[in-house]
Amino acid sequence: MRILVTGGAGFIGSHLIDRLMAENHEVLCLDNFYTGHKHNILKWLSSPNFDLLRHDITEPIRLEVDQIYHLACPASPIHYQYNPIKTAKISFLGTMNMLGLAKRVKARILLASTSEVYGDPDVHPQAEEYWGNVNPIGIRSCYDEGKRVAETLAFDYHRQNDVQIRVARIFNTYGPRMLENDGRVVSNFVVQALRHQSLTVYGDGSQTRSFCYVSDLVDGLIRLMNGEHTGPINLGNPDEYTILQLAKTVLQMVNPDLTIEFKPLPQDDPRRRRPDITRAQSFLGWQPTVPLQEGLKLTVEDFHARVSREACAPKS
Ligand code: NAD
Ligand code: UDP
Repeated sequence: MRILVTGGAGFIGSHLIDRLMAENHEVLCLDNFYTGHKHNILKWLSSPNFDLLRHDITEPIRLEVDQIYHLACPASPIHYQYNPIKTAKISFLGTMNMLGLAKRVKARILLASTSEVYGDPDVHPQAEEYWGNVNPIGIRSCYDEGKRVAETLAFDYHRQNDVQIRVARIFNTYGPRMLENDGRVVSNFVVQALRHQSLTVYGDGSQTRSFCYVSDLVDGLIRLMNGEHTGPINLGNPDEYTILQLAKTVLQMVNPDLTIEFKPLPQDDPRRRRPDITRAQSFLGWQPTVPLQEGLKLTVEDFHARVSREACAPKS
């Protein structure tokens, strides 16, 4: 199969490409390298089954493909808030362009949506039937509302034009190749611990998240794409941790002598988040298999290699 992965040079996209290439598909990676990097897909550049296209999805494009995994969009708050109007454009125009492409070539398209469509949820855990509690005018809205309108577009292309869509609501995912400086909690804590700095906990650390290791997530995406269910389907690990628990776990694993520094909680930071994965379990036969301790260990190893290289690099 010829498969397009938008955002393929990013964190999740590059792990997905590794799986698709291992399954002998022809893969076309489309990316503008805003937060993605060529080194994430370097090993495939010389493969005859792999093509790389530098392109911004807010511009239309004509390609011939059988499936589209549409992941292109900055995912971490500091990156999607850097240029919020661009983030909204990526979510609307970018998704519209990819749905238009899917319609033209009759490709199946999977939209990488997010648990952020539930906002600061007032039901817990979050099932797909819940419509969410999203601030439409806050600093997270460009992303949260962007993904909500992306889902709306996907369902309207499905109803109006028979486009085969799949919608994944991805919960916090972590693993090797996250950017050192992307501000997300797992990468922040691991990098801080490896650099012998205090861990920065925002608020009192009682807010919760549920962390899914990237290989589990990729498995869920592939099952969703090739299964019979349109979605939306939650993909995430239902093991819920407070941010303080996560900080202590990282400290224990990397350097128990370090301290925790409390900083102000960002605006509209969701209080609690845990996926109800009943649908994924029954429709896709999917559930995460990598426990936090194990996934963190692999993540720490990856960051350790990068932080050590950085420490050895000559100062300019
Ligand atoms: P990432 O930032 O590592 O990857 C996004 C990729 O999209 C990058 O390679 C970036 O360069 C590319 N990109 C951004 N804007 C683009 C544009 N205009 N045109 C072309 N390419 C563009 O993020 P990620 O964590 O790998 O997330 C991938 C997808 O999964 C995103 O859609 C994100 O919203 C979704 N998601 C991620 C998480 C998570 O925890 N990582 C959670 C929920 C949803
Ligand atoms: N967080 C934190 N310290 C950090 C980075 C993040 O305490 O250095 C908190 C953040 O306020 C949020 C949680 O960790 O409550 C998850 O943040 P992240 O940006 O990783 O994901 P999101 O908020 O988008 O789920």
